[in-house]
Amino acid sequence: TEHLLQVENLRVHFKTYGGEVQAVRGVTFHVDRGETLAVVGESGCGKSVTAQAIMGLIPNPPGRIVDGQIRFDGKKITGMTKKELLSLRGSEIGMIFQDPMTALNPTMKVGSQIVEGFVRTHNVSKEEARKKAMEMLRLVGIPDPEKRVEQYPHEFSGGMRQRVVIAIALANNPKLVIADEPTTALDVTIQAQILDLLRELQEKQQLSIVMITHDLGVVAEIAHRAVVMYAGIVVETGKVDDIFANPKHPYTWGLMRSLPRIDGVEKERLVPIEGTPPDLFHPPKGCPFAPRCQFAMEICEQQMPDASDFGNSHQAACWLHDSRAPKLEELVAAG
Ligand code: SF4
Ligand code: MG
Repeated sequence: TEHLLQVENLRVHFKTYGGEVQAVRGVTFHVDRGETLAVVGESGCGKSVTAQAIMGLIPNPPGRIVDGQIRFDGKKITGMTKKELLSLRGSEIGMIFQDPMTALNPTMKVGSQIVEGFVRTHNVSKEEARKKAMEMLRLVGIPDPEKRVEQYPHEFSGGMRQRVVIAIALANNPKLVIADEPTTALDVTIQAQILDLLRELQEKQQLSIVMITHDLGVVAEIAHRAVVMYAGIVVETGKVDDIFANPKHPYTWGLMRSLPRIDGVEKERLVPIEGTPPDLFHPPKGCPFAPRCQFAMEICEQQMPDASDFGNSHQAACWLHDSRAPKLEELVAAG
């Protein structure tokens, strides 16, 4: 059976005064019904651009999908008209962004914002719309919906605003929700509550979620599978349990080391990965992680590694896993 979402060999470029940035360089992954896929990586790795492409929101110009295709629920998203994309976003794909304040209209009552899309696509009376808005507020755990529907965004706290944004995203009963760093702007306690809510809704509504994040903690909390991106490509993918138990790519090892521990001693344990990602005006022909990788071999800079498969759909693109490569222990011993 077909995947709900299939991204295939996606390439996205952006024209700038400095030249053309190759932001996404051949990305392939899928999302099944009822699962949460995390797309994880540092800022600039292409994860948000990938999300924009799925939503049909690449600004053209300066952006352009130069290759690949995206299929959603049997339809080809790449190649849709603006109008078709708009209707897809209003009904079948919901969106949640980092900053709830920019997603909300400060001059409009929260209740009307929640059902705006619903009213556009359904023929409902004012009273039915209001009922629907209250039902959505209840669904996302906002108390006192009778009063809340009449209020404006500034009367809500940050966490409550993000709940409103989630209510808007879900009002039309979408099959897929794209969430781009939805908890990054919130404090830690609220973050955990929003992730709990998303997980709960995901199970209850059989939703598929694409969670864009730089935070492996978020991945562990909510995702079934993950795609690790670096410099516009996928370096590792697999079930979250497998990636955490047995990460295969040196970049993923770096991300793991930088993961804060929950027991309170996190500060000393935070080890950021040294160095910076390559310039995507002139992407390297070999492994883009080579300049930062302590295991880099000569071949790494010459040629892009193929993905190796470790079973259970766990894959990583790294020369260390080529059968001809020296064993990792030898490399470590050689310093
Ligand atoms: Fe490091 Fe080479 Fe693997 Fe890239 S391919 S991550 S440079 S060992
Ligand atoms: Mg981003």
